[in-house]
Amino acid sequence: MDSTVVRAACPHDCPDTCAIRVTVHEGRAVKVQGDPDHPPTHGALCTKVSRYPERSYHPERVLQPLRRIGPKGSGRFEPVSWTTALGDIAARLKAIAERDPQAIVPYSYAGTMGLLQGESMAARFFHRLGASLLDRTICASAGGDALTATYGGKLGMHLAHYADSKLILIWGSNSIASNLHFWTFAQAAKRQGAKLVCIDPRKTETADKCHQHIALLPGTDGALALGLMRELVVNDWLDHDYIARHTEGWPALRERAMDWTPERTAQVCGITADEVRGLARDYGTTKPAAIRLNYGMQRVHGGGNAVRLVAILPCLVGAWRDAAGGLLLSASGWFKRFRNDAALQRPDLLAGRARAPSTW
Ligand code: SF4
Repeated sequence: MDSTVVRAACPHDCPDTCAIRVTVHEGRAVKVQGDPDHPPTHGALCTKVSRYPERSYHPERVLQPLRRIGPKGSGRFEPVSWTTALGDIAARLKAIAERDPQAIVPYSYAGTMGLLQGESMAARFFHRLGASLLDRTICASAGGDALTATYGGKLGMHLAHYADSKLILIWGSNSIASNLHFWTFAQAAKRQGAKLVCIDPRKTETADKCHQHIALLPGTDGALALGLMRELVVNDWLDHDYIARHTEGWPALRERAMDWTPERTAQVCGITADEVRGLARDYGTTKPAAIRLNYGMQRVHGGGNAVRLVAILPCLVGAWRDAAGGLLLSASGWFKRFRNDAALQRPDLLAGRARAPSTW
């Protein structure tokens, strides 16, 4: 029988949203490859997905429920039928719900589940049950809210425009491992002479491939952003016209930033004062300058404010004037209009209880 090629989209909760071609032979997927005609996939899938056939058909893949029969951590399980597993879970949920349904917390997130399985079917069930409400998202709300507070929405640069940037700060992102297609554009920029700076406590493979790695201490990103702001002020690398026309609150923030000398910033961040000065010089004098931000920095105390501070930097130098300048953390706000959360999640089943809207 001949093989056929089926077009698909990657199911992962990943900004790249790759287009995939799946080769199917005799009812079995034998190969997956990135669609060469789809930007930004460019024919390449990341390692998570490029070996899906091996994973799907691996003899050790778990295909039926396993019930633990020993102490946690002992690794002892027995296979049970779906009917038994669902019956066990339902009996336990029912007993708890009869006492107090809010003693149940549905703790889940997206992964590879999409809007139907990840964002709605469970919500309907737990709304109806009267379970406690989980604030979505689990891991990105602080950064998402920070972006929204700064720009009015989860919006950012178009990925392809990074190819024309002259300076790219890859701030808290191991792009080679988790944002492969951004990295393709960053490499294109590098070939055209752009400088790549990785700002990350970890010496990742991305840090290895950048011109410079600034290994600040975890949780000090906001301090570095304030230190950069002070240098931008002191050296007058500000775009005063842009600030006047498109920002509000700068005088108060400016006053606050002036406390962050290179020496103080360096001490807090665990880097050198020359690294602070050099980074500020690069950022203040290179156009267009772009920042690729990621979510790690907002998973610490004060992380949301760190994102806000970093997100303000492009406004101070007028980076947004150029398509290849600005910042990207998330662009999910672009697609909000296509979602009907109420139809998916059925908040009417909450019987008057309030649930924070999903923000991812
Ligand atoms: S980079 Fe990997 S996880 Fe992300 S969309 Fe592409 S194949 Fe999927």
